[in-house]
Amino acid sequence: MKIKNLIDEDFVNYKKPSMFIGTSKCNNFKCDKECGKPVCQNSELAKAPTIEIDNENLINRYLNNPITEAITIGGLEPFDTFEELYQFIKDFRRKSNDDIIIYTGYYPEEISEKIRQLSLFLNIIIKFGRFIPNQKPHYDIVLGIELASDNQEAIRMEDLI
Ligand code: SF4
Repeated sequence: MKIKNLIDEDFVNYKKPSMFIGTSKCNNFKCDKECGKPVCQNSELAKAPTIEIDNENLINRYLNNPITEAITIGGLEPFDTFEELYQFIKDFRRKSNDDIIIYTGYYPEEISEKIRQLSLFLNIIIKFGRFIPNQKPHYDIVLGIELASDNQEAIRMEDLI
């Protein structure tokens, strides 16, 4: 898959230590558009070079790390490269049922067909909602961390379908 960044051991995006994979595209920078000013938390990442990495390499790298217990996939916007996201999860699930957390700026109703396709897989959590600045962070019980905007929440796939 094509990625913008890779953190082998990330401790800030989920309650369990995770491998963080940053996807490569956000099609319309919806958070900026809705706020009418540049607010995107990933604007610097968007300028970073895109790297293509084989899914098997990524998966083996994860499996060979005794520290990590989950995969977190985030910014730019994972649902804007959905075929790559889907294929990675499909490949990963052949080897592991560990949690996969997807950070999206979309709301459930905007990506309902894609959610339906992902419902085939176990142990998927999706964090939904645009980034809106100047809101009070709140603790998200599913992720076990604080989220930046009031409109954001994480939902287990089995609670969505
Ligand atoms: S969805 Fe993510 S990458 Fe896209 S504009 Fe919002 S914060 Fe930026």
